[in-house]
Amino acid sequence: MNILVINSGSSSLKFKLVNSITGVNLASGILERIGLDKGRIKYSTLKCERYTVERSIKDHDIGISLLLDILTDHEKGAIDSLSEIDAVGHRVVHGGNSFSNSIIIDEKVIKTIEDCSFMAPLHNPPNLLGIRAAMKKLPGISNVAVFDTAFHQTMPPVAYIYPLPYSVFSEKGIRKFGFHGTSHLYVAQKAAEMIGKPLEELSIITCHLGNGSSITAVKHGKSIDTSLGFGTVCGVMMGTRSGDVDPAVIIELMENQGMNILEIKTMLYKESGVLGISGVSSDMRDVEEADSSGNKRATLALEMFADRVRKHIGAYAVTMGALDAVVFTAGIGENGPETREMICSGLKVLGVELDRKANKVRGKSAVISTHDSNVIVLVIPTDEELMIARETTRLISE
Ligand code: ADP
Repeated sequence: MNILVINSGSSSLKFKLVNSITGVNLASGILERIGLDKGRIKYSTLKCERYTVERSIKDHDIGISLLLDILTDHEKGAIDSLSEIDAVGHRVVHGGNSFSNSIIIDEKVIKTIEDCSFMAPLHNPPNLLGIRAAMKKLPGISNVAVFDTAFHQTMPPVAYIYPLPYSVFSEKGIRKFGFHGTSHLYVAQKAAEMIGKPLEELSIITCHLGNGSSITAVKHGKSIDTSLGFGTVCGVMMGTRSGDVDPAVIIELMENQGMNILEIKTMLYKESGVLGISGVSSDMRDVEEADSSGNKRATLALEMFADRVRKHIGAYAVTMGALDAVVFTAGIGENGPETREMICSGLKVLGVELDRKANKVRGKSAVISTHDSNVIVLVIPTDEELMIARETTRLISE
């Protein structure tokens, strides 16, 4: 079955056309600068490698139309006609309490995703732009929503309830949800394959380290705790998001330092994390470059990032009562040997021994711990799209 997988952001839209049975990627790419000047589409298909088209992309509707033209292009496309697309699978970040599983999208589902938007203001609204555009441009084809929050629905109450008055949870429904679930599950399954043991017998910590980052404790195949929460701003330090901060700091900034709620929100989501500390960039590559030329705040940002990840790994090892493997994935996890080394150098207490030579790997699956390390450390490129394609196939085949 050919599934078009769409991961729609506010100004970019990633796509993959996947045969969900064979796992073969027929086409993949990204539409960038939607709604801005100098739009660009970068893609590859089985017929052409790395093609770039510069084209203004006014909105998501136009983006999807261009994408469908590319897919059906006689020379460089992937399919002869749109009838070869069996369904569309969408990444949706926040399903709140309403979705513990993937679902076929209808107007009611759209409304519920809209209702969850206040919990993921950077993500759900652009996800919906992609959904609406695909439904409009591909009428008559099923659209499936696969939620980042779904995998974490197995967390026990002890992990997902905040130590606030119980009514905050019981009456307002405010609790930890967790994100990047599709990625955490994918790499945990891959890790089990690479280790050669059933996932159900393993205790794994998965570190999804990208612009947004989260750490998950995967015990016997189930998420039992994760570092993102009710929203997408807590846990480890991220590109522009703060991660955990003492709530008293926020109270002080509002009560005595004249900041209003909008300023606080902008600060926590967009001006903090690696960007806020380094003052250089939210992109690890820029910060690493600044660090090598002696920028002390860049060095501090890198050290703080590693520290926050390491602390979560330590905590989750204890939560699981065992640790067989640590997995690194996403932009930084897959491509940042320096960051991985900084994180792992503090994990000897857990029996982690990194193989510095093997750790040089970028963007490929590999074991990066030594043979005698008590804990196996792996790099595994995530493939959320393949997971979404499989989920979509499962739903439309039911
Ligand atoms: P998201 O999907 O959350 O937007 P990604 O998973 O693409 O983010 O990760 C983006 C991060 O990965 C950026 O901080 C970027 O610097 C980092 N990254 C990508 N390639 C490299 C690299 N070669 N070395 C170090 N960091 C990298």
